[in-house]
Amino acid sequence: MPNSLTIVGVQWGDEGKGKVTDLLAHDASLVVRYQGGANAGHTVVVEGRKVVLHQVPSGILNPEAFCVVGPAVVVDPDTLLDEMDTLDLAGINVSPDRLAISRQATVVLPYHKRLDTLREAARGAGRIGTTGRGIGPAYEDLFGRTGVRLADLCDADRLFARLDALLPERNAVLKFLGGESMDRNSIALPALALGARLKPFLRDTGEVVARHMAEGRNVLFESAQGTLLDVLHGTWPFVTSSLTVAPAAFALSGVGVPAHGGVLGITKAYTTRVGSGPFPTEDTGEYGEWLRQKGGEFGATTGRPRRCGHLDLPALRYALRVNGVTALALTKMDVLSGLSSVPVCTGWRFGDTVIDIATPDLFSAPGLQPILEDWPGWAAPLDGATDMADLPVEARGYVERLESTLGVPIQLVSTGSGRESTVVRSDPWA
Ligand code: GDP
Repeated sequence: MPNSLTIVGVQWGDEGKGKVTDLLAHDASLVVRYQGGANAGHTVVVEGRKVVLHQVPSGILNPEAFCVVGPAVVVDPDTLLDEMDTLDLAGINVSPDRLAISRQATVVLPYHKRLDTLREAARGAGRIGTTGRGIGPAYEDLFGRTGVRLADLCDADRLFARLDALLPERNAVLKFLGGESMDRNSIALPALALGARLKPFLRDTGEVVARHMAEGRNVLFESAQGTLLDVLHGTWPFVTSSLTVAPAAFALSGVGVPAHGGVLGITKAYTTRVGSGPFPTEDTGEYGEWLRQKGGEFGATTGRPRRCGHLDLPALRYALRVNGVTALALTKMDVLSGLSSVPVCTGWRFGDTVIDIATPDLFSAPGLQPILEDWPGWAAPLDGATDMADLPVEARGYVERLESTLGVPIQLVSTGSGRESTVVRSDPWA
């Protein structure tokens, strides 16, 4: 029985991780967000009420769970506090006895956002689709060892010293890109005020995670974005700026690898991607548009229309490998209702060669032809089904065929956006 579960998107993000995390957080004593920043948007629907979480772990909706924002998350203190206030107003308790934020987390500052937007504009046609929230430049500061950490927001002298050291170079870059430079106090003074509000939440979060694990309590690690957006293992350079893959959860949270951890991969029943970059099974025609409208495929954070296409088994098999996925959750099955057949990509053809598992370089290799097979579709809507027996035989067949071709159990089948619209075929915690 795993007492740690890592939830990871096995596509290009937006797979429905928020809903699954919220569902599984019910039995978790700790939920840890381990990477990313305010560029993530996890939508959770509880009793018909839609809550979009960007930096606070989705586990916050379970009053019994403690939540951690780990040291590898880049924190925008302004929007994090806004999000905490919004949750508070909605009657969700967000106090230091429910939420701890790592003192080591890197801070997203106003110049990061300015740099992000200016650089993306300068890329022109080669833009990588950043959300402009300063995440990439903040990670550069982390790995460049020049950033500001949350603990620095509680110490004015240290913050001034850090900004004095880094701002001249940042301002030179801003000027080079045609932007306005920034002065120390306009950044430091609001940041110190935000730091004072966040101070009660700041902790060594690694210690919290390690303690829960040592006590054998259920710990849920929640990732943002998806495997194919991982900075190392994804479709680089059209990726996010952090490690998203499941094995990173432990290193990034400051704990060792547990002996019996489960990895639950989340995949939609089809594929979507936001922004630029290769997408071998994209359908830019009527079918893609139908999926976009029916699936509401517009970004939770940016509202950007998502690119839509067919389920891609070679890409999925690659994602299962890099994450060490032990089980899958299949989301948005309800969206496919109404099709007489569902096209699924079972292999990638390059001339006379067919491959069934992707490698990162092949996503944009010339000559790639997805091999599409028509799997039987179903007419009846699935909304709200909670039992496999309630699904049309073809929908059941879709799940079972996918499970056998991928060789991984599909433990959850999601049939609607609400927490309750889920078929639990077997409990991922069991
Ligand atoms: P995340 O970033 O992986 O959490 O995904 P998002 O929240 O960006 O996108 C998932 C969207 O799909 C949200 O609006 C969810 O409420 C919704 N959703 C999740 N599962 C299902 C499902 O099975 N059916 C439908 N129709 N919507 C779902």
